[in-house]
Amino acid sequence: MSSHMNGSPNRENQTSARILVIGPAGPQTNTLVELLSGEGFQTSSASHAALAEQTLQADRFDLALIDTLSPDFDGFDLCQILKTGPNPPCPRVILIVSIPAMRDFVRSLQTGADYTVATPLHPDALLSAVRYVLSPEYSSLCAEPPDRLPLDVEEQTFEVPATRLQLLNLLMTTHLAAMEWKRESNAAQTELKERNLQLRDKTRKLAMSEQNLRMVLEDNADGMVVLDLNHRVQFANSAAKALLGRTDENLRGSPFGFAVTPGTSEEVAISLRGREPIIVELKAAYTIWEGETAYLASLRDITQRRLQEEQFMEQHAQLQVANAQLQVLAAFDGLTSLHNRRAFMETIEEECRQARENGTPLSLSLLDVDHFKAYNDTHGHTAGDEVLISVARLLKGAARRNDMVARFGGEEFVIILPGCGPSNAAAHAERIRKIIESAVWPKRPITTSVGVASLSRDISSPAELIAAADKALYYSKHHGRNVVTHADTLPSKEPAPLKTDAP
Ligand code: GH3
Ligand code: MG
Ligand code: MG
Repeated sequence: MSSHMNGSPNRENQTSARILVIGPAGPQTNTLVELLSGEGFQTSSASHAALAEQTLQADRFDLALIDTLSPDFDGFDLCQILKTGPNPPCPRVILIVSIPAMRDFVRSLQTGADYTVATPLHPDALLSAVRYVLSPEYSSLCAEPPDRLPLDVEEQTFEVPATRLQLLNLLMTTHLAAMEWKRESNAAQTELKERNLQLRDKTRKLAMSEQNLRMVLEDNADGMVVLDLNHRVQFANSAAKALLGRTDENLRGSPFGFAVTPGTSEEVAISLRGREPIIVELKAAYTIWEGETAYLASLRDITQRRLQEEQFMEQHAQLQVANAQLQVLAAFDGLTSLHNRRAFMETIEEECRQARENGTPLSLSLLDVDHFKAYNDTHGHTAGDEVLISVARLLKGAARRNDMVARFGGEEFVIILPGCGPSNAAAHAERIRKIIESAVWPKRPITTSVGVASLSRDISSPAELIAAADKALYYSKHHGRNVVTHADTLPSKEPAPLKTDAP
């Protein structure tokens, strides 16, 4: 439907027209003021009847737009005052009424309003009504109301009795408002439909993703359990049922039995009748299940892994013990339990280096059991072994804390004497010789020959020290055995080859 009564409004005159919008302070009044000002009208507003009357008295207005929906004053009463008072302060009045209130329509007719528009307000309809009541055509109609009036409806002109004009106006404004309502309701319905579709799509996707999750969980080799936030089982795959020894019937909805904390991992033991206890690694995370937040717990049987780890640890410990034993074996002599030649060589190297560095004395004694071959031959190898063990014990007993006693090889022993110069070393060797000589021996007396050497200007390396001690020992063997010789005391002439005859 297009507009109302015929007659083109004189726009220029109209834009200088002054309009007072009377309605509650708020968005609707503001929108009206903005709309009319935007069209060039000089627009003011008043938020209640008293202010409106005051404003209209004080100033000249061409049109009052009264919002009858205002809770603060009766718009119809105000309209009646403005239209029927002795000296009407405002020539034209448009009423804004609510569409469903029939009573309001009737009242708007009764009050003599020039025009009535219904909410929801259609901006074009409102502007059209404003222009119409401000038009000179409308003014002349008011001055001399004709019997019939032209009415433009959908680009057609109808002749209508003038007395029905106001009623028709109302009818049209109601129709426009109804159209606006319909448009708004259509828009709302379209939006609702769209939302519904989106919701359906989301629900479908959720169902699909849940179906996928179910499949993935079912196929997982680990036990997978979905729990609600009260720790009640919602789903368990076959692996989980096997691990827990439960069936679907007694599992769904039942308490899980283990505390789950999302983001953590822990080990739990599961003991079932007729089955060896198993160790399970339990991990948990949050998930969505049937549209609700839920826990997803995974159960991995790590019994075998733990067993292998334990076996590995045990083997590792055994290996460490064996290694330690090997180290002992590598450094010690099996028969006498003294350090062996290897350990001696390492120590003499280190002691020589330190003595040279610190300028401290260092001596070495080399001992050899006299006529030991004969002893073996006479009393047997085992008896010979016992002699070697006893000699070792005597040497160890006579040694100082920092001395090192080692088996040099066969029936030969060596003693490293850190901090000992030539005379102290010789005295120490002599003491040892005497200890062995005077010990009680089961078969026959045992004696040793000793060669002693000390670091000096000429003797600085381990090899030189050992060679010098050996030379001194050689000398002792040549000078009656059971003798101590210090290398420093050797005459420069080499002794004759050694005689090894039995005593
Ligand atoms: P000398 O006084 O000149 O040193 O004469 P000797 O017989 O002691 O010297 P020789 O080098 O001729 O003999 C050393 C003997 O020591 C020969 C060997 O059987 C014996 N012997 C070496 N190691 C062991 C051992 O571990 N146990 C036993 N029972 N005898 C050993
Ligand atoms: Mg020997
Ligand atoms: Mg010997």
